[in-house]
Amino acid sequence: MPKILKPARMVRCTGCGLCELTASRIAKGKLSYSDSFVQIRKTSSGQPFFKAVIDYGQKTEFPEVRDICPEDCYEIE
Ligand code: SF4
Repeated sequence: MPKILKPARMVRCTGCGLCELTASRIAKGKLSYSDSFVQIRKTSSGQPFFKAVIDYGQKTEFPEVRDICPEDCYEIE
C-alpha cells in the first residue's frame, strides 16, 4: 500500500489553513489556498467543524504537511 496523508483527527482542526499553504508550496512551489492538494472545508453542521478534502491522485505523504499542523490533525499511513 502506498503511504498517504490522512486527516486522522479533524475534530481538532481550527481551519487555520497552514496545511493548505504548505501542500501547495511543496507540490507547486507557490502559496495558494485554491491550488493545493489539501482543501479545508467547513462541514455543514456540528463537529468536526472542518474537513480536509485531499487529492489522492498525486503524492500526498509529505511530512512537512503533517508537521505544520498546530493541532496534530494528520498522520501518514
Ligand atoms: S493545519 Fe491543521 S488546524 Fe490548520 S487547517 Fe490544516 S488541519 Fe486544520
